[in-house]
Amino acid sequence: MEIISRQEAKLLGLDTYFTGKPCKYGHVDYRHTEKGGCLGCEDEHTHLSFQIHHPRFNEVMTDLTLDRPFDLSDIMSPKIQSMLEEMAA
Ligand SMILES: [Zn+2]
Repeated sequence: MEIISRQEAKLLGLDTYFTGKPCKYGHVDYRHTEKGGCLGCEDEHTHLSFQIHHPRFNEVMTDLTLDRPFDLSDIMSPKIQSMLEEMAA
């Protein structure tokens, strides 16, 4: 991995750049030139935030939690993800 600054990445028109320094969550990973976020953070949060911000999220969760307590692991489950994707289609 070549270490370059965000400024250089912008000038070169790169989507991502690499500083070799850890992000505030400790990932040493590529970062988005535009957003500045690291890809390691994105991997960890993409699925969760996609689901929570999905317009149909509450609807899906209500359906699923009618007969049992809500569990955070439900949010991360592939089943929920596929349900949301179907609804969004
Ligand atoms: Zn990170």
